[in-house]
Amino acid sequence: MAKCSICGRDAVAYIRYQRRYLCREHYIEFVENKVRRSIKRYKLLSKGSKVLVSVSGGKDSAALLMALSRLSKEYQLKLYALHINLGIGEYSEKSLRASTEAAKMLRIPLIILNVKDLIGYTIPELARRLRRPVCSVCGLVKRYLINAVAVELGADAVALGHNADDLAVYSMKSFITQDLEYLDKLGPKTENIQGIAVGRIRPLYEVYEKESFLYAFLLGVPFIHDECPHVNHESLEQILKVKLNEVEEKKPGMKIMMLRNMAKRIRDLPRREYRVQSCRYCGLLSSTEVCSFCRMTARIHGEPLGPIVRSRVRELVKESESRQLSSAAG
Ligand code: SF4
Ligand code: ZN
Ligand code: ZN
Repeated sequence: MAKCSICGRDAVAYIRYQRRYLCREHYIEFVENKVRRSIKRYKLLSKGSKVLVSVSGGKDSAALLMALSRLSKEYQLKLYALHINLGIGEYSEKSLRASTEAAKMLRIPLIILNVKDLIGYTIPELARRLRRPVCSVCGLVKRYLINAVAVELGADAVALGHNADDLAVYSMKSFITQDLEYLDKLGPKTENIQGIAVGRIRPLYEVYEKESFLYAFLLGVPFIHDECPHVNHESLEQILKVKLNEVEEKKPGMKIMMLRNMAKRIRDLPRREYRVQSCRYCGLLSSTEVCSFCRMTARIHGEPLGPIVRSRVRELVKESESRQLSSAAG
């Protein structure tokens, strides 16, 4: 059996781009050091930050929750987790169970939102009614709800579990389609806009998919192995994923190099000229007078649901905070 290049114990992983073997302890340290380095290099967090971690139930958000929980003392973080139940059959049920177990294991307060309770339809039902692709509706709803919770919570940042493989694919797709303004949003962080939008951070920016899987697995944090049934294996993203993996195989470390260079150039990219404003119905970030969530819900309900959703989110956040206070007092 291969031995750890640092301490000589049995190795659990070989890091190709560093040409070294690592044992369990040194592997965990290796991943956490990557997260630490990204926090420092990209100024993701400051000491004492209140962070809302978005958890889907998959390996990346499990790894993210675990890593931030283990680093929380060092950075004095106040962590909250958010899980959104999308109503995608058994996949959503399993995701909810895994997210609940992970948050419980790490003693991180979990806020759960159910799309059907909030909007009256599950994500697939909404997509059917709107005649739009499921993933585009899902993305819109998730972005809106995550931001709504983060604003109500007064969070300093929303942590997302995107790994280096995902980000390399999205960036390449933006390059191919020349949607260069979107590249700006794929960097390690986006900024806060006072009262209407909380900035997003990506602590796994330089962590590969395989690395986050092994990290979560070795630390025993629950996650599901299932993939959402709506993933389209014929999509450009999936094709790029396979192709970029082939390049990475021949040039280990290529994706990280690409992402680091991109992060340096992000400020130079063209920006879409739009006025940052707050939606006239719900008050959250919008590029036009009415935000896309309010527009979308008005189309199916006859009225924008943003204000109702925000007040429900406010109640849930308050409940979660008072549970926190009473458990701290007890
Ligand atoms: Fe949502 Fe599509 Fe992702 Fe499934 S694959 S979780 S529907 S964005
Ligand atoms: Zn070792
Ligand atoms: Zn709105």
